[in-house]
Amino acid sequence: WKPHPTFPSATTRSSPVRDKFLSFSLPLIGNEEIDEVVAALKSGWLTSGPRTKQFEQEFCDAVGASAALALNSCTAGLHVALKVLNIGPGDEVITTPMTFAASVNVIEHVGAKPVLVDVEPDTLNLLPDAVEQAITANTKAIIAVHYAGHPVELNALRSIAEQYQLHLIEDAAHAVGASFEGQLIGSGSNLTAFSFYATKNLTTGEGGMLTGDADLLDQARIVSLHGMSREAWGRYSAGGKWAYDIIEPGFKYNMPDIQAAIGLQQLRRFELMQERRRTIVETYNTAFGGSSAFLTPTTRAHVTNAWHLYVLRLRASELTIDRNQFIQEMTARNIGTSVHFIPIHLHSFYKNKYGYQPDDFPVAHAAFQQMVSLPLSPSMSDQDVADVIDAVLDIQGKFGRRRVAA
Ligand SMILES: *Cc1c(COP(=O)(O)O)cnc(C)c1O
Repeated sequence: WKPHPTFPSATTRSSPVRDKFLSFSLPLIGNEEIDEVVAALKSGWLTSGPRTKQFEQEFCDAVGASAALALNSCTAGLHVALKVLNIGPGDEVITTPMTFAASVNVIEHVGAKPVLVDVEPDTLNLLPDAVEQAITANTKAIIAVHYAGHPVELNALRSIAEQYQLHLIEDAAHAVGASFEGQLIGSGSNLTAFSFYATKNLTTGEGGMLTGDADLLDQARIVSLHGMSREAWGRYSAGGKWAYDIIEPGFKYNMPDIQAAIGLQQLRRFELMQERRRTIVETYNTAFGGSSAFLTPTTRAHVTNAWHLYVLRLRASELTIDRNQFIQEMTARNIGTSVHFIPIHLHSFYKNKYGYQPDDFPVAHAAFQQMVSLPLSPSMSDQDVADVIDAVLDIQGKFGRRRVAA
């Protein structure tokens, strides 16, 4: 299958250019996933059923969670988390500007106020001191994002949450397989939302999982499926009852078996996929780590990085082009890139509603202007990796500031 068009090769260029456009993040889907989806289709059970149940259980075991709830997105998981924690109008939720809009949109969905605070310069994760300073009498929760797969400082955030009686919710969209001080992300009691979106480390096309305290997840299960007091498979399977009751106006957030089929097989290959990611990251680090033009991503000693993204930062003082021009040069070399993320406070809805200025979160804003996410996917061949490195170094060679010898 060919999801991406081949970009026309640049004609004015002397360096070799790939024939085919390298997608920023292609999923690794094999015959196992395809066969499992076909089996799900042939089984006659298309929506949430036995495969969803099995995927839920296997994912729960894989991350060492006390309970898990399969959903149709991570966004749904975050929304449901806020709902079962009774967060609503008048409440404030502290979170990061360095995230995808979903993490913050859900706060608006429940009528609460997002309170953004700046991030750590190296990991670009929530800065615990900034979180503490932003706490008011109305603060009810913190949504912490494990940016790019590097866990947040969980101990510091946990003790802040404990001290001020706040809920800590983890946006683990990037963090399947990540761990903090040897504990897998998702294994704690606080609600943690994972994403299986097409570009994520483990994909079901669209999908998500909420893990955490079993009682909260029982409530989340009801809220995520119409507010219905019994699950669909309980009602229709042998011995099930036809009766149900709507105890609140819930949402339609369940994961179908067709999606869970992909997830079951992605779980089987997950460790190999992660190993491939780590190899690519090491190769990039070796290639770019010695150059003063680039800042390579860091990993703190007490965490395991899930390496969802490889975010290279450009040192403006060392290059004659800016980040946007750098991306154009990469595109001209047939290499797909992306930017993670346009900080929340620069988006018009949030800017207009809360009157944010770009420099309100100077660390996030400065990092945004420097960052480019390079292709990182277990589907990349060694040649793909070499092409990315060649392109980056070629651009550096052409646009690096020359130092005149004294
Ligand atoms: C992808 C992503 C989400 C949303 O995930 P969906 O499964 O698409 O809802 C949330 N937060 C972050 C940080 C993400 O990258």
